[in-house]
Amino acid sequence: MAWSDILGQEFPKRLLQAHLCAGRVAHAYLLAGPDGVGKGRVALEMAKTLNCVGEARPCDACGPCRQIARRIHPDVHFLEPTGASEQIRMDDIRSLMGRIALRPFSARAQVAILADAQRLTEEAANSLLKVLEEPSARSYFFLTTSRLSDCLPTIVSRCQLIRCQPLPRESVRRILVETQGCDPRLAEVIARLAAGSASAAVDLAARWTRYERIWASFAEGPASSVWLERPLPETRQEVAELLDGMMEWVRDLAVAATVGAAPVTHAAHIEALRRQALVVDLDRCLEAAWRLAALRESLEQFVSPRLVAALAREEWLSLFHETPVHGRPSTVHREEE
Ligand SMILES: [Zn+2]
Repeated sequence: MAWSDILGQEFPKRLLQAHLCAGRVAHAYLLAGPDGVGKGRVALEMAKTLNCVGEARPCDACGPCRQIARRIHPDVHFLEPTGASEQIRMDDIRSLMGRIALRPFSARAQVAILADAQRLTEEAANSLLKVLEEPSARSYFFLTTSRLSDCLPTIVSRCQLIRCQPLPRESVRRILVETQGCDPRLAEVIARLAAGSASAAVDLAARWTRYERIWASFAEGPASSVWLERPLPETRQEVAELLDGMMEWVRDLAVAATVGAAPVTHAAHIEALRRQALVVDLDRCLEAAWRLAALRESLEQFVSPRLVAALAREEWLSLFHETPVHGRPSTVHREEE
């Protein structure tokens, strides 16, 4: 993999390459941006460039480049949250510093890549701060985070902050087609849902069949509401998928209720969406979307999945409860008329 293989992140790539060219690489960077946009890849590419012994750095062919790509280079250290609490603890930082200190002086560059910097405990962060305040000449730190606001300000202030943006939809689509062998049409749909995150897109592609089943059941309602007669899902994962599916459907419903023909995500279910859009309006869709999003959040905070599923079902029923007042501006747009 070379710099050009990292899709998106043009600004971070240009900035870091400029620092390399000028010989002004900082000792600590903090790459901040959503999950799955390539922050770790950018850090890995920097580790390769700093250690490469080939002509065009990184050459991807020399020993160091190949070792770093396989994450087995002795001078490139990876640290990520571990344990049930998923934290980076002081012992982890001490062990990292020990490994760096043990390396021979001849090493080209010592690079540490710390994922999820917001997961550093306060003690670990203080321990790391001491190193960042007095860095040795050939050691470089690349911290990444998807939650900049949760990072300790002292850590942020010691690093050069680089913001990584969500990936363009086309990049996500290409990743799905080229690396996951995804059907191009499906890749297009998933790329639209993935909000610029390659990892979310890959994850969604893997779960797509289960989502399809959920959407197909929504297409049966609301009059029959067949899916509501089935047992409610019970596991956190199943309920999360149900809620994600509901929110996607409500979004499409809102689009169908306002602009009709519409770039709906679930084009395969357009007839069902149009039918359902006759009995909802935009206000109700928005209200339902907010409540479903709140339920989704409560699921993350370990509220009982069964309770969340039951409340979601209530929400769904109330969405279709009343017949709309015809003629209201925000009500149904019947495209075929
Ligand atoms: Zn190389």
